[in-house]
Amino acid sequence: MRTRRAAISLTAVALAVSLAACGQSSTGGSEEKKSAGDATIGIAMPTKSSERWIADGNNMVEQFKKLGYKTNLQYGEDDVDQQVSQIENMITKGVDVLVVAAIDGKALSDVLKQAADQKIKVISYDRLILGTPNVDYYASFDNEKVGALQAGYLVEKLGLKDNSKPGPFNIELFAGSPDDNNTGYFFGGAMKVLQPFIDSKKLVVRSGQTKLDQVTTLRWDGGNAQRRMDDLLTKSYGSQKVDAVLSPYDGISIGILSALKSDGYGTAAKPYPLISGQDAEVASIKSIIAGQQTMTVYKDTRALAKQAVQMADAVLNDKKPEVNDTKTYNNGIKVVPSFLLNPVSVDKTNYQAVVVDSGYIKASDLS
Ligand code: BGC
Repeated sequence: MRTRRAAISLTAVALAVSLAACGQSSTGGSEEKKSAGDATIGIAMPTKSSERWIADGNNMVEQFKKLGYKTNLQYGEDDVDQQVSQIENMITKGVDVLVVAAIDGKALSDVLKQAADQKIKVISYDRLILGTPNVDYYASFDNEKVGALQAGYLVEKLGLKDNSKPGPFNIELFAGSPDDNNTGYFFGGAMKVLQPFIDSKKLVVRSGQTKLDQVTTLRWDGGNAQRRMDDLLTKSYGSQKVDAVLSPYDGISIGILSALKSDGYGTAAKPYPLISGQDAEVASIKSIIAGQQTMTVYKDTRALAKQAVQMADAVLNDKKPEVNDTKTYNNGIKVVPSFLLNPVSVDKTNYQAVVVDSGYIKASDLS
């Protein structure tokens, strides 16, 4: 019975999609489809390998549906070509708005030209799409602040901020994927805090790798980070210990921790260094509770989804979306009007209040 009903509704959806596609080709544009009942939102997310993007996709689908919109949600699995063809398909099927979290911020110019030709508005989600005029709005967090929170935490806990410990301390630096525009903002925000201490030699980067292009992690992959950390420990440490690691993302932090464990860290004689992170993923909150990863930066993806949804709803109704920043995010062609949310630093002392009590993570998932 259930299966049959599902089959019927699937057929209905397929019919609606093909009718929508026909409507579009016969009118040569999507101008008429403005009411929620008719409109479909194409949502292109980068990967399911990190739980935040799964939550982002689900949150948007849920919120768009509440307003009466249809959705077409696709994950590119960190494959740039796959994401481009998914967006192309959405355009062919006649979506009315695109919400895109790019895998490679520079790879979407051609496909977004096709979207613009069909008068499909584009909302850049979390990661800025670069090098094209065809991006209308940007919903994200204050990305430079993310890096500042990570580095500020390390500096404070090392006792450098109030000079309570003399140092010097050994630190190693990791950044995100080189093709993600956020990477430079996170790293830049962190280095503004760290550089003065590196200059005064209170922080020492024994590997000497301090430039962004020396410390990136392709596709934010934890395995790549683990290999690099293994290498750093072998080549630059020996009898010396790492005191802190700047990590931009929880999946990278977990990779770094694996390398540290294999090198004998995690004992009284050789305690884990301070390690930052981002996204408040379940595995990392558990790691923080267990005294391994030290902190993460929480970004409420429910609130981000809400901003993207208000932007799409506004453009479909010929209204101006709410923005709170019209200066910071230049994509190389134009400054994209943005709504930026506030990231929050989370450690052992406040994870309960910030991520559990707010309903972001269930307490039962942490046991
Ligand atoms: C997002 C981060 C995320 C990273 C890896 C970045 O663009 O802003 O929240 O940790 O991608 O998925």
